[in-house]
Formats: sequence, C-alpha cells, structure tokens
Amino acid sequence: MKINQNFDELVPNYLFAEIAKRVNDYQKNNPEKDIIRLGIGDVTLPLAPVVIEAMKKGADDLAAKETFKGYPDYEGYAFVREAVAEYYKSFGVDISPDEILISDGAKSDCGNIGDIFDKDNTVLVTDPVYPVYVDSNIMAGRKIIYADCNKENGFKALPDESVKADIIYLCSPNNPTGAAYTADELKLWIDYADKNSAIILYDAAYEAFISEDLPRSIFAVEGARKCCIEFCSLSKTAGFTGTRCGYTVIPKELERDGHNIYKLWYRRQATKFNGVSWPVQCAAAAVFSEEGQKQIKENINYYKKNGEIIAAALDELGIFYTGGKNSPYIWLECPDGMGSWEFFDLLLTKANVVGTPGAGFGKNGEGFFRLTSFGDRDKTIEAIDRIKAILA
Ligand code: PLP
Repeated sequence: MKINQNFDELVPNYLFAEIAKRVNDYQKNNPEKDIIRLGIGDVTLPLAPVVIEAMKKGADDLAAKETFKGYPDYEGYAFVREAVAEYYKSFGVDISPDEILISDGAKSDCGNIGDIFDKDNTVLVTDPVYPVYVDSNIMAGRKIIYADCNKENGFKALPDESVKADIIYLCSPNNPTGAAYTADELKLWIDYADKNSAIILYDAAYEAFISEDLPRSIFAVEGARKCCIEFCSLSKTAGFTGTRCGYTVIPKELERDGHNIYKLWYRRQATKFNGVSWPVQCAAAAVFSEEGQKQIKENINYYKKNGEIIAAALDELGIFYTGGKNSPYIWLECPDGMGSWEFFDLLLTKANVVGTPGAGFGKNGEGFFRLTSFGDRDKTIEAIDRIKAILA
C-alpha cells in the first residue's frame, strides 16, 4: 500500500515545539525565574454560569428514558441553529437557521471543507496565515498561492486582479495579526471572488472581539451570499476550546459547477461526522440567550482590557502593531530590526516573558511577534512592566 504522498510536502510544524523547548531549557537552567506566558492562543477563564447550568441540565436529560437523546441531527438541533440565526440578527445579518450547520469547531470545518472541492482548484491564503488553511490543502494536493500581508497594507491583503484563485481563505479579525477588514475591503474580495467564480472561506472565529464599526460577518457585506461560506466558533467567544462547538453558514442559493454547496457539505458531514453531543448543544444555545450574552461579554471584556494594556504599552514605546482593539491578538514589529526568534530569546531571557515568533506563521511574519490577551490580568500587567523595563 501507499500513503498519501502529499503528507511529505507538509512543512514540519516546529513552532510550538521549538517554543516549548527553548522555554524548558531556560527554566531548567534558571529554576528561580517566574516565566509569564503571553503566547497562548487558548482561553483561561471558565465557562459562563448559564452555560454550565445548561450543560448540566443536558447531562441530566441523558440520565432518564423520557428525555434521553441518541444521535443528533447532522446539521445540529433546530433550537441551536435558530439561536445562532437570532444572534446574527442582533448585528443586522439575516441568515436562515436552514443555512447553519452546527459542528465541533471551526478548525474541523475549515480543514474538512476541502472534501467538497476538486483537487485542481488553486487556493489563496493570506501570509501570515493560520496554518490549518495551508496544511489541509497540502494534504489534498492543492496548489497554494500567498497574498502578502505586511506593514504597508496594515496586514490586510487585498485582491490582485492578475492572480486567479478558486478558493480564498480570509480570517478577520485575523489570527495571528489581529487586523480586521472593513466592509469596503471585504467588498473588494467579494467582487473578485464573484468575477472569478471563486468561493471565499471566511473564518470569523474572533468576531466577538470586534468593537469598532467593522463587519462581524462577511454576510453583512453586499454580494457575500453569492460567493461566501462562513465559519465561526464558540471557542474564543465563549470559552469552548475544550468543550468544542462551532458553526458553518452556507447560503442555500450558493452553487458552483452545477452543484449546490450546502447540499454537498451536508452530504459530507452526514458521511464523516455524527454531530455534537446534546449537553454541548444545550450549552451552545445558552451562550446565545440574553443572560448568556451578558455573561460571555464579561469574559471577552476581561481579555479585551488585557489587550488594551498591552497596546497602551506599545504605544508608549513607539512600537508598530496591529490588533489589540478588535482582536485578542497583538502583532508587533520587533524593535531595532530584530528577527522574530531573536526577539523571542530576548523577551524570554531578559523579561522572562513568552510570546510567539511571527516567523512561525509564514514568510511575512519574520520580524514580527504575537502576544495574546488571553492571560491573567495581573500576569499581563507584570509581563508588560517587564517588557517596558527592557525596551524603554
Ligand atoms: N480559526 C482560527 C483563525 C483560529 O485561530 C482557531 C483557533 O485558534 C480556530 C479557527 C479553531 O477554532 P475551534 O476551536 O472552533 O476549532
């Protein structure tokens, strides 16, 4: 037998392994040092009380014959999809519950959606990039082209008419750069996709962090229904990184190559995915309740305040950065022309603070560095004081 040879094309993902190695080596040689981690992309606050209550009630349902639930619907229970549709309405976007499919998270859906597209499509990703878009398409043997995001374009690549792409991944607010597209910028991508009969795969995993007047969904922008699929997640919105729940939105009228895209994705999910558990779907619906929204906003605001603290320090130091305002990520230019890893080592050894070298997210990440606002408030303040002390 032969394995899928495309796996040989994957670039070894050494980023987090290399970070862990350098941190462990340093800690071993300096056991007295208190290292603060501002590199993590995982949340640290617990689930909201109404969410936990709904999850426990869901678990109790499974304990009685009358309320027991077996396999869920492939597309998710109607009450959860209705709750998501109402949520979209709250920021002025009209999506039918029949266009929403509940899943175990955005990573799975972003990675699996390629099943419905031919291998010969050309994929466009922005660079720096969330690695799932790249690796899942390498596994499928697709050609990938990169749109440069850099200081000049504010880390927001715009379409190049001379380039032909069939599948376009956009992530806004972006991981890792925190940059968020305006409606006008997204309209340029929509027009480009429409003209090229392409499909935009829009990852809105961080939409809940938007506080300025920017689109929370690509479907807030005119024309998106003709060419877009949107992925979203409760991971960062409501702390579901370990609980696992997300959703994908596909307009019912979206067609390509004589096929209905919603139907293809439904068929794919029905074949390879057996749904999200009852207690988790109950918990997900609770996120969208009035009380749920109030409670999750407290956590989001906590993280956003951390972001403001980091951003204010960078302003003070005169360091260029994107993100922080509409995103839990702060993407900063390493001072004095330092490389990403050089700056990583400086922060680790002189400030005992860990971040993520931008070079790990693509060639345009070299010379940049990612900090996150998902940490503890006191530790974030302490880390920022230490960074200021070595850079001021
Ligand atoms: N999309 C982006 C851009 C992310 O940064 C992440 C997680 O870090 C995900 C998707 C994964 O989301 P989920 O936890 O729902 O799989």
